Amino acid sequence: MDSIIGYEVDFLRVGENSKSGDAIAIRYRLRDASRRERYEVMIVDGGDQKAGQALVDHVRYVYKTERVEHVVNTHPDADHCAGLSVVLQELDVGTLWMHQPWNYAADILARVLDGRHTPNSIEKRLRGKLSAADRLEQIAEENGIPVRSPYRGERIGPFWVLSPDEDWYVDELVPYFKDMPEIDEDEGDQEHLDEGQLWGKNVKSAADWVSEDWYNETLPAVAVEPRMENESSVILWGDFNEDKVLLTGDAGPEALTRALDTLTVSRINPCTNLKLTQLPHHGGRHTVTPTILDRLLGPIRAPTSRSNVCAVACVAKESERPRRVVANAYTRRGARVHTTRDCRGFWYRRDMPERQNVSVQNPLGLFDKVEA
Ligand SMILES: [Zn+2]
Repeated sequence: MDSIIGYEVDFLRVGENSKSGDAIAIRYRLRDASRRERYEVMIVDGGDQKAGQALVDHVRYVYKTERVEHVVNTHPDADHCAGLSVVLQELDVGTLWMHQPWNYAADILARVLDGRHTPNSIEKRLRGKLSAADRLEQIAEENGIPVRSPYRGERIGPFWVLSPDEDWYVDELVPYFKDMPEIDEDEGDQEHLDEGQLWGKNVKSAADWVSEDWYNETLPAVAVEPRMENESSVILWGDFNEDKVLLTGDAGPEALTRALDTLTVSRINPCTNLKLTQLPHHGGRHTVTPTILDRLLGPIRAPTSRSNVCAVACVAKESERPRRVVANAYTRRGARVHTTRDCRGFWYRRDMPERQNVSVQNPLGLFDKVEA
């Protein structure tokens, strides 16, 4: 069996203005039994169209290949999947991993009271609302690329899927995607703030800042219920020998808790070997809680103590993310927090070839004022 002897992860910056997205390229070095070496490439999310082209160029001119073994779309929002259409059209892709929520139209219908709906109308509504994801499925079909569902337990290259599991996805997530028909109250009566409201609430005036220091954390213990599209994000656990990598998409508190539970059941303590992770939802504040971070990174450390964890926030050029309150929470637990705001991408590697023109980026320090 091939063993992995090196890996690198490139977080590309998505977005010129304030709207962030994810575009992540991964390359790993394999050695077979007769000690022959080769590389494999994988892509997780594609950002917008421009980021998709940047990913294609990165794979061609930095990784020097046309072949991408796995393409993963974490969830159907356009800031994560639009660019993947460029990747699927321009590169030689082995497998596309994405959820196809429209395949569950009949399950959703079973929960809806309104008699005007049919499986067909619900499927159409989902495909229309999630048109960028629908387009991915279409391009994969046109190009003969197999599409597989990334549910808990699936292996994707050196990664395995921690969340979501299929039952949760079908029962609790898709029926509550935005603009789904109203759900029978007996089946569930959750209310969801949409992204616009959350962002609106976060526009800061000078009076909206509060003080923090190393031991005074203001990150809320209970997160606001997030959008279910975000909670449906594929959470990936990468196994690169002694190094572990956690990619989170736009996952929120319940998905992250479920992912941590999956690790616990498998007797894996993320605090032991985690080397690289992502700030979920570009460092948005309604994703992680102190409890989640304690489980992922360990408790708050002494100010001088650093762990080996690098935590990356994929944000746009003029983004207000990562939220300072979130970045501080990672920093307190020893992580070195980096963002893509001031650079074209953030590169993390172990036992991979050198590159020209790479500058070292200092991690963010602790902010003494954070969003109220
Ligand atoms: Zn996003």
